[in-house]
Amino acid sequence: MDNFDRDHLWHPYTSATRPLPTYKVSHARGAYITLDDGRELLEGMSSWWCAIHGYNHPVLNRALSEQASKMAHVMFGGLTHDPAVELGRLLLDIAPKNMNNIFYADSGSVAVEVALKMAVQYQAARGCPAKENIVTVMSGYHGDTWNAMSVCDPVGGMHTLFGQALPRRLFAPAPACRFDDEWDPACIEPLRKIIEEHADTLAALIIEPVVQGAGGMRIYHPRYVAEAAALARRHDMLFIADEIATGFGRTGRMFACEHAGTEPDIMCIGKALTGGYMTMSAVLTSSHVASVISDGDPGVFMHGPTFMGNPLACAVAVASTRLLLSSPWRERVGDIEAGLKRGLEPARESESVTDVRVLGAIGVIELKHPVDMAVIQRRLVEEGVWLRPFGRLLYTMPSYIMTPEEIDRLCRVMVMIAKEQRA
Ligand code: PLP
Repeated sequence: MDNFDRDHLWHPYTSATRPLPTYKVSHARGAYITLDDGRELLEGMSSWWCAIHGYNHPVLNRALSEQASKMAHVMFGGLTHDPAVELGRLLLDIAPKNMNNIFYADSGSVAVEVALKMAVQYQAARGCPAKENIVTVMSGYHGDTWNAMSVCDPVGGMHTLFGQALPRRLFAPAPACRFDDEWDPACIEPLRKIIEEHADTLAALIIEPVVQGAGGMRIYHPRYVAEAAALARRHDMLFIADEIATGFGRTGRMFACEHAGTEPDIMCIGKALTGGYMTMSAVLTSSHVASVISDGDPGVFMHGPTFMGNPLACAVAVASTRLLLSSPWRERVGDIEAGLKRGLEPARESESVTDVRVLGAIGVIELKHPVDMAVIQRRLVEEGVWLRPFGRLLYTMPSYIMTPEEIDRLCRVMVMIAKEQRA
């Protein structure tokens, strides 16, 4: 393989001068990606959690090419189109009942920027400009742009590196009560204290409901979400649910807030929105928030990306969401959950493993020591599986089309690789 990629292309979280190896993909279909050298890998990451229907799906391909033959893009300022309207209708059908207004954005990180801006503008519009800061919890991940970074875990995230340059946010400890534990009211106390002390300066609370993804793959008690949302409301703050990773069935519910029976004031979605075909996200909010912003000064929401409401992305998002709704996705995710629980359980026996956890189509093996990325990646590829571990986490977020046999195989490889790690 020529070295252009290695010498010139910067890959995520990798050195430009001493990069980790990359594997060249020639094509992908269903649950598999095929490397340039012909090796076929069972893809257990759904391309960072978005390709929920697998690759090269004829329905999504058709939606994209049909839309491309009409128009790939038009600006959303002053113009609209069917794909945007259809997608909006679909999203409001499946979103929490109080959601009423939708802002389309470009990526998950941008959706978080939009949500935080919305919260601050909302507070200013209702005459509380001092309420401009944000509270969140440790071990969170909300993206790599500036404000999104500021609400990521300050230790494991990029705060150390960007330090004083990032806006200073308030952090409660990560939710301690696990999903299946009995609810312990003490769990919410640290957040309660921070909110009560700083309510005058707080515009919003942002969390990833039930599953903290890239900040540690932690699966916590839904009651925490409900209590946190109630606390925010009691103190005239908005509750922002970052459902970018958890949305579209990943946790066994359409949106993870449903586990808590809680409706957010603002909800961010992305990733699986387009079935992994195009970059797109959306920020949904209530008519209350939308009308306070619109009745305040300057009467408009101050955001407007070039590719807002891109017709190709909207068309494929419509097709992907319809495909999901017309499939038995609850049963499929339930079966995957059962398969992951069964298949990953043997990893607990290993001295190198500290925890195994599963929720919906999310399976995590937590190791004692951080992995050596280059080595573990090579081993996984040798075993015919594509996973991308990070830190001490070997995990999978498979597409919903994986068969029980494929889930079994994925688990067998994960357990084997986990056992090879240092104890
Ligand atoms: N929020 C959550 C919960 C995420 O998991 C991610 C990405 O992993 C983001 C935001 C950022 O999304 P994007 O990478 O599309 O900017």
